Parts: sequence; C-alpha cells; structure tokens
Amino acid sequence: MAERNAVTRLAVFGQPVKHSLSPAIHRQFARQANAGVDYQAIEATPETFAQAVRELQLKGGRGCNITAPFKHAAWQLAQRCSDSARRAEAANTLVFDGPDDWYADSTDGRGLLRDLQRLIGSLGGRRILILGAGGAAAGLLGDVLEQAPATTVVANRSLARAEALAERFADVGEVRTCSLEDLAGLPAFDLLLNATSLGHAGGHPGLHAGLLRPGGLCYDLNYGAAAEPLRAYCQQLGLNYHDGLGMLVEQAALSFELWMGFMPRTDEVLRQLRETLQAAR
Ligand code: NDP
Repeated sequence: MAERNAVTRLAVFGQPVKHSLSPAIHRQFARQANAGVDYQAIEATPETFAQAVRELQLKGGRGCNITAPFKHAAWQLAQRCSDSARRAEAANTLVFDGPDDWYADSTDGRGLLRDLQRLIGSLGGRRILILGAGGAAAGLLGDVLEQAPATTVVANRSLARAEALAERFADVGEVRTCSLEDLAGLPAFDLLLNATSLGHAGGHPGLHAGLLRPGGLCYDLNYGAAAEPLRAYCQQLGLNYHDGLGMLVEQAALSFELWMGFMPRTDEVLRQLRETLQAAR
C-alpha cells in the first residue's frame, strides 16, 4: 500500500482525453483510500505519447491509464505484462515499479466481468455475441472465454478482422465469427456485448429482437451520449439494455488497486457518476 502522506502521481493519456471521467473516478477512490492522489488527464499525439509517459515516470509517477488510441503503444512500452495485456496486445494500465521496470495490464475485460457479475452473474454456459472486433473486443475476449461460455460469436463489419481476433484467442477458447449481415440466421443469445464505436456517430448495430432470448441482456460498452442510440433502439424493441458505465468504474478500480494496493468500493462511485451524467443531459 502506498505511503498515506505522500501524493501519488497518476494520469490518463489519450487523444482526445479532455472529457475523460477517469480523474473524477480516481479522486473518489483516493478519498476512500485516504490517500493523496494527483490524477491528470494528459492529451498526447502518436509522436509525443511515449515521451509523455516517460516524463510522468521521471517526475515520480506511480503509473497511468491509457485510452484510445494508445493502448497498443502502451503495451509495447512495458518490460512485463499480465496475460490479459499479452493476449490483447494492449494495455489500459501501466505500473511503474522502477525506471525500467514497467508492468502493463489490461483491466477492461475483468472490469466488464465485474459489472456483468452484478447484473447477470457468471458467463459460464451462456451464449454470447460480441459485436465489434476492435481494441475493446480484443481487451475483453480472453476474460470472457475464461468463463467457459457455451458459445462465443464475434460479428464485425470487417469479417477478416473478426477472424484474426478469433485466431489470436484460439488457445483460450473457441470463437465463431460472422459478418453483421449474417447475424439474422443465428439462434438467440443470452448476452449481446456491443463493442462497436457506432454510438459515437449517433448509430447502433441494427439488431433484430430475435437475436436475444427473452430475459437476455444487451450490454453496451458505450456510456453517456454514445450509449443513447442503442439504448433507445432496445427500448423500442423491448430488449433489456445496460450501458458500460459500470465497466468503466470497475476497470478503474482494478487499476487503482494495482497502483495503490487498495481495492475501492465501486457501487457508490457508480451511482454518483450516473447522477452527474444524468444531470448534465
Ligand atoms: P475501435 O476503433 O478499435 O473498434 C471499433 C469497432 O466498431 C470495430 O469493430 C469497427 O468495425 C466497428 N465500427 C465502427 N464503425 C462502424 C460502422 N459504421 N458500422 C459497423 N461497425 C463499425 O474502438 P474500440 O474497440 O477501442 O472501442 C469500441 C467502443 O467501446 C467505443 O465506443 C469505446 O468508447 C467503448 N469502450 C468502452 C469501455 C468501457 O470501459 N465502458 C472501454 C473500452 C472501450 P471494423 O473493424 O469493421 O472497422
């Protein structure tokens, strides 16, 4: 556990990163831990990213979060990494254990599982459909497969990208793939995970109601304004919907634990964040 009187320097790097909710989340975690934490949001470019992270470490930083588009670059910077980061070839968390001893982890998948545990329990034996094959899908696939679902399908606009992902995770579990157009013929799923970025452009993957079994859940990794299109569409179809705000808070809690040796309680932080976002609508 970090020394209580010292201020721990942390940051999130991204492009853009100005609207990141991470500083607010980590402020609340620090309060719970009774720890002094200085957590900044730092905008970088592909040219400045590596140097900016190095500067944080040289100034005594304990570690950082990394968001799009630097998760792959962050993983490459570390000397050691978790299985999740190795499989995803990406990191959302770096821990500086020494000047040349950086540990990379990808807490997104475990964060998702913690939120899903609260909503539906374990994924063991379930039929799961993942929409999207980008960085977020890569970050969660290994953790999902480790829960031994009955079936895991990755559907993506670019089929080749879905197939490459399935191949990369073949040693963890079987992943079937299809294009978004081919979804229509598939039997109903227990859980749909929307890992596409369509919501940021005001869109959603046009699902049909039969894709989800009665009582199943459509879980959108998006939150805030980007979650609204799929939320509205699911409401229209009468499908259970949940956004990805809980995943965001849970992955942050896992990062905080890696840096500080303290696992924050997330329920209250999530409730307050949701209230703040709703008030801002
Ligand atoms: P990427 O850019 O890596 O991947 C985007 C995915 O969306 C790809 O599968 C892409 O398909 C698909 N896509 C984009 N536009 C379209 C379109 N017009 N039609 C069909 N498919 C489309 O993004 P990430 O994987 O990093 O992130 C995905 C989402 O998850 C983002 O909205 C992000 O905010 C969210 N996220 C949430 C987290 C949380 O904590 N709640 C954590 C991480 C991410 P193709 O491969 O064919 O281009």
